[in-house]
Amino acid sequence: MIVNAPDLSVSTIRADLCVIGTGPGGATVAAMAAEAGLKVVALEAGAFVTPGEMNQREADMFPRLLWESGGRTTFDKAIRIHQGHGVGGSALHNLNLCKRVPAEIRARWVAERGEGPPWDSLYDEVEALLEVKNVDPTMVNRHNQLLADGAAKLGWRHGLLRHNRTGCVGAGYCEVGCAFDAKNNALKKLIPRAVTAGGAIVALAQAVRIDHAGGRVRGVDAVRLDPRTRQPVGTLRIEASRVCVSASATGTPALLLRSSVPDPSDSTGNTLRIHPAVVAAGDFADPVYAWRGVPQSVECTEHLHLEDEAGPRTWIVPAFAHPVGVATLVPGFGADHRAAMRRFPHLAALTAMIHDRSCGSVRPLGDLGLRIHYTPDAEDAAELRRGLAAAARLLFAAGATRVIVPAGQAIELKNPAEIEARLAIDAELSAVHPMGSVPMGTDPKKAAVGPDGKHHHLDGLWVADASVFPTSIGVPPQLSVYAFGLHAGRAIAAS
Ligand SMILES: Cc1cc2nc3c(=O)[nH]c(=O)nc-3n(C[C@H](O)[C@H](O)[C@H](O)COP(=O)(O)OP(=O)(O)OC[C@H]3O[C@@H](n4cnc5c(N)ncnc54)[C@H](O)[C@@H]3O)c2cc1C
Repeated sequence: MIVNAPDLSVSTIRADLCVIGTGPGGATVAAMAAEAGLKVVALEAGAFVTPGEMNQREADMFPRLLWESGGRTTFDKAIRIHQGHGVGGSALHNLNLCKRVPAEIRARWVAERGEGPPWDSLYDEVEALLEVKNVDPTMVNRHNQLLADGAAKLGWRHGLLRHNRTGCVGAGYCEVGCAFDAKNNALKKLIPRAVTAGGAIVALAQAVRIDHAGGRVRGVDAVRLDPRTRQPVGTLRIEASRVCVSASATGTPALLLRSSVPDPSDSTGNTLRIHPAVVAAGDFADPVYAWRGVPQSVECTEHLHLEDEAGPRTWIVPAFAHPVGVATLVPGFGADHRAAMRRFPHLAALTAMIHDRSCGSVRPLGDLGLRIHYTPDAEDAAELRRGLAAAARLLFAAGATRVIVPAGQAIELKNPAEIEARLAIDAELSAVHPMGSVPMGTDPKKAAVGPDGKHHHLDGLWVADASVFPTSIGVPPQLSVYAFGLHAGRAIAAS
């Protein structure tokens, strides 16, 4: 059953397990636990939006699918942080890239924080479940081909990506939800399993506090949200002796801290990583039509050596661009801005995203909000500048006539010779991969949660989402979140 919280006729529900959040982490836990026979109720702050309702319009879909309509930022407004809400979480609007955390990073986690989940077998299982495969080369659009061309010209390492999509028609609107239901995501693959096994998904229900006493979880207090205004219109209580928090790497620490969940390790909310990213756009003589086809099918990994702790840490992929998003980045006002937007079909944008070492923090803000603080340290800032220069170099190598970099005062480069001097700047940052804010570890003195997501300091509590990674992972997170959800869901069922 999937129901909207405002439509419920009861104000208290009893369950064996309450899952908070229905993204890759929460949906997978809910499916595993329900199939194991637990009575599961999953709360989701966002709405239940079906593919049929995804109309490919930014103005309609961003408010429905993204926190703060896509306008979420760090507290100082310096970095845009895109995160999704809705039954299916950020997987509703993400771009389907699937990569495993490199074995070298996982080995470092084991050395520093003790034995972790059996990642390899979990990845095998989740890749089969989500039908992960290489992008069909015939689906590479001109935008991505330009990245491949630029990299080939420079002799830089690049290749095709792997995705969880089946039946993709190349419409190009992945970021506003797939109207063709081609994404093999939480909504398509896990939520139906949870529901078929008797689980209840309650949309428009935002958990406010985890209720606990005497070192044990007792339930969850939530509010029901109006579907249009997203303002509270009532309360809802879930009585459950097990609670799994899967509210994302920002929502989870905010909820744990607001609920005064004990954490002697003092790690909750203090080690946020985000994969901060910069963008450079190239203007090409022939139209690129970047919005047509699969948005991200090619990567450049020349500057990404995750196996080497001291190596370069920058991943470069095409930055997908809808008109409104581009309009907010393109420089100028009035007639100048209009003239710049007339070049929209000719623009190809690249993003350089880094495997970050800086730590940010998350804190609750009132009952429903949160504050994110994050500033790249000097080393990360330097890595971002190198990434920006590399992206500009790729665009020129692919044939761009000029390169534009969004910054306080946007920068226009006319040729590659200008890159070094003009890009010694702190460009505008954005992030789509928050993680690592409740890092797992076997030692309760150093970690709030164990390697299966079980909270070390509060009985009956679990965490299963992107929060649990001990460090940045340097690759897109969803595959690892689904994998961890399988592991935690089974552990909860066995507890
Ligand atoms: C534009 C974009 C593109 C991306 N592309 C990719 C990609 O191609 N590949 C990849 O691997 N990753 C990608 N990601 C990131 C990926 O989607 C996330 O890492 C992943 O979804 C994280 O899963 P999660 O379960 O931790 O959190 P989420 O998917 O964020 O799910 C958390 C859910 O919890 C809900 N929630 C939060 N607080 C509460 C509360 N208090 N009560 C109830 N519910 C709550 C939220 O509404 C949300 O639905 C992308 C992200 C964005 C924004």
